[in-house]
Amino acid sequence: MKKMITYVFPVYNEGEGIDVFYKAVNAALRTHKQYIYELLFVNDGSSDESLEKLVALQERDKRITVINFSRNFGHQMAVTAGLDYAHGDAVIIMDSDLQDPPHVSFELIQKWEEGYEVVYAQRRTRQDSAFKRLTAYYFYKLLERLAEIKIPPNTGDFRLLDRKVVQSLSTFKERNRMLRGLACYVGFKQTAVLFDRDKRFAGTSNYTLAKMIKLAADGIFGFSSAPLRLISHLGVFISGISFLGILYALFVRIFRPETVVQGWTFTIVVVLFIGGIQLIVMGVLGSYVGRIYTEIQQRPLYIVSSVYSSSRTNNERKK
Ligand code: UDP
Ligand code: MG
Repeated sequence: MKKMITYVFPVYNEGEGIDVFYKAVNAALRTHKQYIYELLFVNDGSSDESLEKLVALQERDKRITVINFSRNFGHQMAVTAGLDYAHGDAVIIMDSDLQDPPHVSFELIQKWEEGYEVVYAQRRTRQDSAFKRLTAYYFYKLLERLAEIKIPPNTGDFRLLDRKVVQSLSTFKERNRMLRGLACYVGFKQTAVLFDRDKRFAGTSNYTLAKMIKLAADGIFGFSSAPLRLISHLGVFISGISFLGILYALFVRIFRPETVVQGWTFTIVVVLFIGGIQLIVMGVLGSYVGRIYTEIQQRPLYIVSSVYSSSRTNNERKK
């Protein structure tokens, strides 16, 4: 039986280029007839003619499904919906602006056939603006320092996920999600394919600075408690300095009383003491907030890739 590959294409105001994009994908798919394809376009509340064009394509090509959002929910939610609706044995997430070249997806499939379960496309080069390249570079550096998982640099959401991985991703219900982080978090056999990222075919980037900052925050706060730990560290540091300040104030009061204004010593000791204590207490609160946060994310406790067993009961439970 032929295996099924699902493509997930998030679409937001891509009306200008969507027909050319579809033609390019279609031409690429025609060269690999050994698979059945499902094309999932998720229209993320476009305000242009994207939806009309997608529906017209859907009427001509029965492999296409169009999922139409009621409003703009953002790229990550569009991809999430695509994963939820996908039927394929493998799912490929790809931008719909021709920045991710369709032919590269066959290299991803190739690696999947070799047994890899997550194959991410890693940018060897990219044609984006200097600003985008610079912010992306420093963001991934920061994430590498802070995050508890290893998110490979220079990757977007252009990747292939095995059915198993898609299934385990569907158990992650957190609202502020960065899929490329989660795709690393779930584990499984992962590998990279290098590619050269093209220029956008039409239109402009829909990732505004605000959307980029939101994604960066989701990456850092979702996979790292470093910002919380910073409070504790700061608390200890400030308390240490306050202690020295208190010693100094007492020293001056005892040995140089003539230089001290009435009431200064008491005031300064109280201020420094309270300041240090406050930050330490906030650090303690922070640790609890951090725990509440991970509890609330409700991530699965573990993810099983396979079970090797000879007992019948185990096999039955798997079904
Ligand atoms: N996109 C989306 N919702 C949004 C913003 C973008 O579905 O709110 C889609 C967009 O149509 C494209 C992909 O996400 O297919 C990547 O967006 P874009 O090309 O604007 O980002 P960039 O490539 O500049 O990072
Ligand atoms: Mg793009």
